[in-house]
Amino acid sequence: MSYQVLARKYRPKTFQDVVGQEHVTQTLLNAFAIDRIAHAYLFAGPRGVGKTTTARILAKALNCLKNDKGNPCNSCQNCVEISASRSMDVLEIDGASNRGIDEIRNLRDQVKYTPINSKFRVFIIDEVHMLTTQAFNALLKTLEEPPPHVKFIFATTEPNKVLPTIISRCQRYDFHRMSEEDISTGMEVVLKEEKIDIDDQTRKFIIGLADGSMRDALSILDQVIAFCGENIEFGKASTLLGIIPEELYFDITDAIKSKNRIELIRTLQDVYSRGFSLPEFVSGLNKHMINILTCSVESGEELLEVSTEMTERYKEESQKWDPKDILRYSDILTELEMKLKIVQQPRLYTETTFLKLLEMDSTISITDLVKKLSSQMQEKTDIEPTLFSNLEEKDSSVYASVPSVKEAKPSQRMEYKQKTEKPIRISDAAKGTLFSKIKNNWDEIVSKVSENGTSLSTFLSHGSPKTIDGKRLTISLPRKYKFQIDFLNKKASLIESTFEKELKEKVKIDFVVQHDKEEEIIKNMKETNPVTQRMLELFGGKEIT
Ligand SMILES: [Zn+2]
Repeated sequence: MSYQVLARKYRPKTFQDVVGQEHVTQTLLNAFAIDRIAHAYLFAGPRGVGKTTTARILAKALNCLKNDKGNPCNSCQNCVEISASRSMDVLEIDGASNRGIDEIRNLRDQVKYTPINSKFRVFIIDEVHMLTTQAFNALLKTLEEPPPHVKFIFATTEPNKVLPTIISRCQRYDFHRMSEEDISTGMEVVLKEEKIDIDDQTRKFIIGLADGSMRDALSILDQVIAFCGENIEFGKASTLLGIIPEELYFDITDAIKSKNRIELIRTLQDVYSRGFSLPEFVSGLNKHMINILTCSVESGEELLEVSTEMTERYKEESQKWDPKDILRYSDILTELEMKLKIVQQPRLYTETTFLKLLEMDSTISITDLVKKLSSQMQEKTDIEPTLFSNLEEKDSSVYASVPSVKEAKPSQRMEYKQKTEKPIRISDAAKGTLFSKIKNNWDEIVSKVSENGTSLSTFLSHGSPKTIDGKRLTISLPRKYKFQIDFLNKKASLIESTFEKELKEKVKIDFVVQHDKEEEIIKNMKETNPVTQRMLELFGGKEIT
C-alpha cells in the first residue's frame, strides 16, 4: 500500500469521529433523525478544523445506500466512491481556482442533471468567499430555486466575504478552532495506531505549533516521524522544527550574570551558525526572562508553561536574580524585538544590545530612590535647627555653597515630605468616589501588593488607574510592558484582594495597554515633575522607566 499522509489516513469517517465540533455534527445528526436536511449549508471557521471533512461525511450520509441514523456506512459503493473523490454525483469545487462567472454558469448547467447512482447531486464549494461578485450573483439564482435533487455545501475561512444574500439562503454552521485537549486526543489516536513513541515535550510543542488545527498537527507529526522514526525525542525533533534549545537562553543569562563577554558573543554566534531566526531568538529570550521573573513570585512557577524539570530549573535561576534587573532586561529585549524589524544590520545591533545588557549595573529603581531621598530628608529635617543656628553665625557664602537638599525651598520640602510619608488613610478620601480613592492612594496601595511578592508590585508600579466602570477598574501600562500585562491579568485576583483590603471595597481589575498619547502625557508629566527633577539633580544619572 502506498504511503498516505496522516491527515488523510485518519480523516474522520463519521460525524462522531469529528473532534471538537460537536455543536455542528450533533445538529446535523438530529436533522437526519427528523428528516429535515437543508438544501444549502455554509460551514465557516478557521482552516484545518474539519469543514471539508464534515462536508464529505454529510455528502456520504445523504447518498449512502445503508444510511444508519444519519451516519454513512463507509462501505457501500456510494460511500467508497465519495471517500475516494470518484463519485459522479458529488462535485468538489475549489472556489479559489473556479471563481469566475463561466465556472458558475457551468455549475448551473450541471445542477439540471439528475443524479446517476444516488439520491442527490451534492456540490461542495471550498473557499467559497473567493468567488467573484458576478459568480456569486449567478450562484444566487440557483440557490433561490434549487431542484429537489441538489444540495450545496459551502466552506469558507472568511464568511464576512460571502455575500449576505448567499448566507441568508444557507444554514450556517460555525466551526471552532480546536482546543489543545481536542488536538491532543486526536493525536493520541493516531500515535497509538501508528505505534509511535513521542516524548511529552515534543507532543506539547507540536500542539502549540498547530494553533488549533488538527490538520496542521498531523502534518507536522508526519514530518517529525519522517525525520525521527518511530521514537521521537525532543532533542532530535527540535532540530527539524527549528526550536531554539532552552540551553542557549540559560547560556545567555549565565554570561550576563558573570559578565562574561566572550561567552555571550560565542553563544550568539552559536545562534547564527545553527540558523535560528534572530527575532525568534530575541523573543524566546524575553520569554525566558519572564519565566525567571514569574518564578520569583510566590507560587509563580504554577504559571509557567514548561516541563516539570524546566520549572525546577527556573525556580533555581530566579534565586540568582534581582527581579528588577530581569524586568529591565526584558524591557530592553522588547525594544530590541521591535527595532529588529527596522534596523539595517540586525546582527550587529543585537550584539551591541546584548553587550549593553552585560554592562548594566544593578537596578536602583525610582521607588528606592524615593525611599532613600525621603529618609535623607527626614534626617536633615531632624537636625536642621542646630545646623541652621550654627550657620547663621557664619558667613553667608558658606551657607550658599551647601549643596543639594538644603537648596530646596522649605515649602517644597514640606510638600514632598507630606506626600511620601502620609500614612494610608482611606477614610479621608471616603467622601470622594472610589476612583479618586484609588488614584489618591495609588502608590500606597501598590506598595501593599508587594506583600505577595516583590515583582508583582514592581509590575504594578508601571501602571496607572485609567477608568472605573462601577466596580470594574481598568489599569493601563505602557505598551512595552505587554508581557507584564499578561502576567498581571493572571494574578488579578491576588491584586484584587489587596485592593479590597486597602479600599474596604471590592473591585475587579483589568490590565490593558496604554495608548501612546497617554504615554506622551505621562512622559511630559515626568519631565516637569519637580520631585523627579530634583532626584535626578541629587543623584545624577538619568531616569529609568
Ligand atoms: Zn454507505
